[in-house]
Amino acid sequence: MERMTRASSITDRLAILADAAKYDASCASSGTAKRNSKEGGKGIGSTEGMGICHAYAPDGRCISLLKILLTNHCIFDCHYCINRASSNVQRARFTPQEVVDLTLSFYRRNYIEGLFLSSGIVKSSNHTMEQLVEVARILREEHDFRGYIHLKTIPDADGELVHRAGLYADRVSINVELPTDAGLARLAPDKDTRRIEGAMGGMKQAIRQSRDETKRFRHAPRFAPAGQSTQMIVGADAASDADIVGKASRLYDSFGLRRVYYSAFSPIPDASAVLPLKRPPLMREHRLYQSDWLMRFYGYDSREVMQATGADGMLPLDIDPKLAWALKFRDRFPVDVNRAPREALLRVPGLGVRAVNQILSVRRQKRLRLEDVGKLTVSLAKVRPFLVAADWRPTLLTDRADLRTLLSPPNEQLELFAA
Ligand code: SF4
Repeated sequence: MERMTRASSITDRLAILADAAKYDASCASSGTAKRNSKEGGKGIGSTEGMGICHAYAPDGRCISLLKILLTNHCIFDCHYCINRASSNVQRARFTPQEVVDLTLSFYRRNYIEGLFLSSGIVKSSNHTMEQLVEVARILREEHDFRGYIHLKTIPDADGELVHRAGLYADRVSINVELPTDAGLARLAPDKDTRRIEGAMGGMKQAIRQSRDETKRFRHAPRFAPAGQSTQMIVGADAASDADIVGKASRLYDSFGLRRVYYSAFSPIPDASAVLPLKRPPLMREHRLYQSDWLMRFYGYDSREVMQATGADGMLPLDIDPKLAWALKFRDRFPVDVNRAPREALLRVPGLGVRAVNQILSVRRQKRLRLEDVGKLTVSLAKVRPFLVAADWRPTLLTDRADLRTLLSPPNEQLELFAA
């Protein structure tokens, strides 16, 4: 039963609707250091205030966003969602004008550089979408707001409304929610893969058309210039990492997505009995992000990433997927740092994209020794078995049965993705 208490002050509603929005990972938010001005993160200059998250703008800058829901009322009943119709949660709602006022007031105080706006579904998909679009319209048309806007779009909403969202927003996103159709049918019975993917297809077409037109006509309207993204919940259903990697790859290929975000399922109060009781290890989410990087920046296709999984289709938690792949395909190593093509160097565990680019640049002038490579990587121990340098050849190292043990981190610390 929906709790009858409803917050009335703006601050109370902001607390509820910012907290409700935190489950959505599809505005990138990682790697930023806290910059709290005083304890609690609410002082002058704080970047961690209520509802403020960080995202990367299309030009690579890290920006602060006001991340809120328009409302956490919802007529849908997705089992994994704290805002589902049957959840006993305190409800709140903003009007479009209130969201506009909050955004402008945070923006003028330099707390934020943009808005990430999502919503539960009230009355109907069209009604909700209209309200989201109205926020963006008022900001852009009435206040000439030049900040970043990321709008969640509702797949079932009228195409014309979704199109208008793209004309006001920098980025749009539609969550696919679960990696498999069966998982979606079981945990989000009101949603439908075909409708979600149909809306993504429409977005892709509109984004492409807008890019073509802006090349030809300088003043052609821009449509979601920062592209579209999506989110998948990890660990709420039985989908394996191989299923998730396969789904992400299909989404990138089919819809030209900028990003797929992975969000480890987190148990919610009064959870439905069909959900697992425990959240998956956070390391699983991290390994999926690493596998995503392999596909986007390292030239691996999804089939190759899946080769890094075990018999159960899961990526190992103790080593990263690139090392797992290299250990399975040892005959591809060692590669010669002074002669190998870029694609082969990118497969060497411990070498990131930046290190490979530097190697390619430096080796035009001189032959690299192992110590030169050591300056470009955080883990020379990880690189050594897989690389030949001017003064180094890893005799039989890749044949060692205990190589995996030698290269596994001593504990499950969340190492930065250096390779
Ligand atoms: S549509 Fe589903 S996921 Fe979205 S707010 Fe409603 S219950 Fe939650």
